[in-house]
Amino acid sequence: MVFHYFLYYYIILSIRSYSYSVSVSVLYGANIDRDFTEEFNFIEKLFSIHSEIVWDGEGNMNSYKEEESTDELAKYFPEASFKGDLVTRYMHSIGKSSVEILESRIGLHIPIVDGVVFPDNSNINAIINGILNSGKKALIYGGGTNVSGCFRIKPGKGVIAINTSKLNNISITGNIISAGSGITGPELEKAANAHGLTCGNFPESFNYSTLGGWIATMENGQESNQYGGIENSVISVKVLTSKGEISDNKVPREAAGLQVKTAVTGSEGKYGIILGATIKGFKLPDKKYFSSYSFKTFEEGIEAIKNMKRYPTVLRLSNETETMIALMSGKNTGMKKIFMDYLGLRGVKNGAMMIMVNNDYQFKEKLIGGIPTTAYPAKMWARDRYSRPALANILWKHGYIPDTLETSCQWDKITELYNNTVESFRAAEREKGFTGIIMAHISHIYHTGACIYFTYIIRSENSLEDLLFVRKTIMNSILKNGGAITDHHGSGTLFSIYKNPEKLKMQNMLNDELFTGWQDGQ
Ligand SMILES: Cc1cc2nc3c(=O)[nH]c(=O)nc-3n(C[C@H](O)[C@H](O)[C@H](O)COP(=O)(O)OP(=O)(O)OC[C@H]3O[C@@H](n4cnc5c(N)ncnc54)[C@H](O)[C@@H]3O)c2cc1C
Repeated sequence: MVFHYFLYYYIILSIRSYSYSVSVSVLYGANIDRDFTEEFNFIEKLFSIHSEIVWDGEGNMNSYKEEESTDELAKYFPEASFKGDLVTRYMHSIGKSSVEILESRIGLHIPIVDGVVFPDNSNINAIINGILNSGKKALIYGGGTNVSGCFRIKPGKGVIAINTSKLNNISITGNIISAGSGITGPELEKAANAHGLTCGNFPESFNYSTLGGWIATMENGQESNQYGGIENSVISVKVLTSKGEISDNKVPREAAGLQVKTAVTGSEGKYGIILGATIKGFKLPDKKYFSSYSFKTFEEGIEAIKNMKRYPTVLRLSNETETMIALMSGKNTGMKKIFMDYLGLRGVKNGAMMIMVNNDYQFKEKLIGGIPTTAYPAKMWARDRYSRPALANILWKHGYIPDTLETSCQWDKITELYNNTVESFRAAEREKGFTGIIMAHISHIYHTGACIYFTYIIRSENSLEDLLFVRKTIMNSILKNGGAITDHHGSGTLFSIYKNPEKLKMQNMLNDELFTGWQDGQ
């Protein structure tokens, strides 16, 4: 079944126009059908709350009702690809960060784009001219799944969003894949699989995010230990800048100065529109092997990873809280009881669990302190690998605020960063008086360190103020303890405040050179 990305992502947005209210679904993947009620019930127990449904997931757009019509802009786009209706404009002005979802929920008025265009390869230049002639700036929209505030435009900017969904051509020669930037994960992977290949790149947002978005945010997929981040896959990139098209040679490696791909990876649309890219196709694995281990503590698990000689395709080590939620939330079957008794016998019932998935080989290294705990937890992780955000949707609807922040840091700093960040969350909780839980896991593994990913849930009366306070507290702790601003979420407006001004200057120089006149200038 072909789920065209619009059908899949926008039309399900159940646009509802009551006589006096305009609302639109703003939760990520609102049609993910995995039922996470058991997990939700367990989290409610942890909070000692029984909440009735308080929100239907519809963003409140009432303050836009008086917005002037932008229909007159259609004349600049005779290709009939312009949309000026309020809902389309609003949905191209928000990403999927918790801050943006919460702002929509409480009806905060944010600046929105003046219209949206949908170019294809034949009319992209005409559409750019249309934007220039209309006196507007451009904002590039891929799958809309960024969580870093990429679409937050400044008030009064006059911006047109360029939706890349029609730039979705694909061709494969040997093990080289060339595709348009608007192609989504499933479209790309299906075509690759037909040639015995895989793109090897599987972010949790795989079903909705696009090749152009992956490159522009320097995304990192769940199998990065084997395939690397998107930067490892890209062979060449074709970018349309305000000075014309530039691209890399399609060669395995080129040492001839700064490459286009290097410049635009992580550029978040500031150096031009990525029209397409050529990426590596990896051989499809014949078999996947699943395993899991439990450790008495998260710290012991981290020590074991440090000593590994070879990293599995997927490795996720959850801290004790994340492990407990994963273990305690499922149905109480006989098998589960036997499993829990076994963990108890081995002294790891309240410990930290590591799951592994390996392509084409069985992991056989001895893990110091690791108790083997069967393939089952890893299989469950793989089953839910793209549907877990449905649990966040249930939490949102019941008045909780789920959020995530992630970083990477060197091995010698990681335990301290973890402990201090958890403590900073607790201090924020005491200071502001909200209730919360914080979880963490280690995922992407590098030779010199790893990504540590924090997921936290808060319940608060002053929701937006407290959410912003917690984010700032956690970010300050991450940076103080030697972490990256982000391992893979890009930098958007929510993170650029943490950038070194000299580095920003360097990035702006390229922006001024390559993308003057029609960038949105966030
Ligand atoms: C539930 C969930 C799970 C996620 N899991 C992961 C994960 O596992 N790993 C990970 O790294 N990230 C993850 N993300 C974040 C997000 O999916 C990634 O940042 C992704 O790469 C964004 O792709 P997109 O196509 O949705 O881009 P968009 O959100 O549309 O755009 C992101 C930025 O890229 C720019 N851009 C998009 N297309 C182009 C183009 N063609 N040319 C130039 N600039 C462009 C935009 O202007 C914007 O600045 C997740 C997000 C969610 C909501």
